[in-house]
Amino acid sequence: MNDDNSRELYDRALSVMPGGVNSAVRAAIEPYPFFVQKGDGGHVIDADGNRYVDWVMGLGPLLLGHDLPEPVQAAIQQKASEGPMYGTPTEIEVDLAEFVVRHVPSVEKIRFVNSGTEATTSAVRLARGYTGRNKIVVNQGGYHGAQESTLVEGDHENPAPSSAGVPQSFAEHTLPVPFNDEEAVREVFEEHGDDIAAVMTEPILGNYGIVHPEDGYHEFLREITEEHGSLLIFDEVITGFRVGGLGCAQSEFGVTPDLTTFGKIVGGGFPVGAIGGRAEIIEQFAPSGPVFQAGTFSGHPVTMAAGLETLKFAAANDVYDHVDGLGDRLREGLSEIVADQAPEYTVAGTNSMFKVIFTRDGEAPKNAADVKNAETDRWRRVFWGQMKDQGIFLSQNQFECQFVSYSHTEEDVEQTLEAYKDAL
Ligand code: PMP
Repeated sequence: MNDDNSRELYDRALSVMPGGVNSAVRAAIEPYPFFVQKGDGGHVIDADGNRYVDWVMGLGPLLLGHDLPEPVQAAIQQKASEGPMYGTPTEIEVDLAEFVVRHVPSVEKIRFVNSGTEATTSAVRLARGYTGRNKIVVNQGGYHGAQESTLVEGDHENPAPSSAGVPQSFAEHTLPVPFNDEEAVREVFEEHGDDIAAVMTEPILGNYGIVHPEDGYHEFLREITEEHGSLLIFDEVITGFRVGGLGCAQSEFGVTPDLTTFGKIVGGGFPVGAIGGRAEIIEQFAPSGPVFQAGTFSGHPVTMAAGLETLKFAAANDVYDHVDGLGDRLREGLSEIVADQAPEYTVAGTNSMFKVIFTRDGEAPKNAADVKNAETDRWRRVFWGQMKDQGIFLSQNQFECQFVSYSHTEEDVEQTLEAYKDAL
C-alpha cells in the first residue's frame, strides 16, 4: 500500500504540531497515521488514494456517514453562506433545543457548547453550583473529556491526576469507582455522602472497549444519588442519539438522570456539546443563575443546522433500523469468527457500536480492569498490520469503540468480516 503522501504530511506535521496531531489518540496509528483526503459514503480515501471502509466515523458524530443527505447539506451550506456566526441568538438554536427537549424526556432545558469536554466541564460546575458540594464520583475507565475534574485515576481512597498539569488538589475532589460495582458506590456515599455533588457515568462505557451495565446498575445509581441529594449525570456524548434512537440510552434503560451531557451526533459532524436536564438545575447557568458558562461559538448556526437536519432526517427515515441492523450483522458475524478462530476474545457492543476485545478468557468485561488486561500488543499487530492493509479503518486502539453509519452497506460488512477472518 503506497503511503508516501501520508508520510510526507506526517513529517511536516511533526515539525509544527506536537506529535504531529491535534488530538492525542490520532497518533496511535503506527508507524504514522494516514491522512484523509475525503470521505465517500461509508469509506474514507487517504492522501495516497487508498480506500478504507471507515468504522471510526469521526469517533462517533457521523450517524449518517460521509454522504450527507441533500437537506442536511443544503442547510449547512445555507448557514455557512449567511454569515457564518453573529454572537447574538438565532432561530436555529431554538429549533434544535426544542427538538432535543421534545425527544429526550429528562431534558427540559438545554445549553449548547462546542465539545463533549466543554459539556462535561460545565455539567460538573453546574452540579457543584446547584448542590453546593465539591465531589464527583466517576467510573474507572470512563472518559469524560480532557478536563481537570475527570483526568483522574486510581480509586476513591487514592485519586491521582492522570495527566501532568492537573493539581493533586483537583483530583482530591474526584472519586473513581469501578463500573458495575454497587458496593464501591455505597462505600463512597457512606464516607463522603454529604459532599458528593454528582455521580457522572456513561450509560455504556464507550471509551474502554465497550462495557455494558449489569441489570439494575443504573437504577441503583438513580436511587442512591436521590437518597443523598446528589445529582445523576449521564454522559451521553457517545450514546446520545445512537443507542435508544432519539430518546438516547436513558430511554433504553428507563432511567432518568438529572443532567445529560451530549456531543458528537447532536452537531451533525461539526464541533458541539450540550448540557440538558431538569429546568430547575439548568436555570442555574448564567445569566438566569449564578454558575458562569459562556462561549463565543456556542450554538453556532452551522452546527445547529447540521445537528437539527441530521436528527430530523433520522426521525423521518429508517436510519436507526439500518445502522442497528448492520450492527447486529457485524456482531453476529464477528461472534462466529471469534468462536471458530479465537474463542478467548469477546465481541462487544449494541445498536451501532461494536468492538472485538482481546480479553483472554472469552468473558464479556464488567469493568475497566477487565479490559485493561486485554492484549493490546496483539491489537496493534493484528489491526494495524492486517486490517488496515485490507482496507479496513478501525479505531486507533483497543479501547475506543467503532460505529456503523447510515452510509454503510451490507457489502462493507461482508468485506470487513472477511478481513477479520483473515486477521484473526
Ligand atoms: N464524554 C464521552 C463519553 C466521550 O466519549 C467523549 C469523547 N469521545 C467526551 C466526553 C469528550 O468529547 P470531546 O472529544 O468532544 O471533547
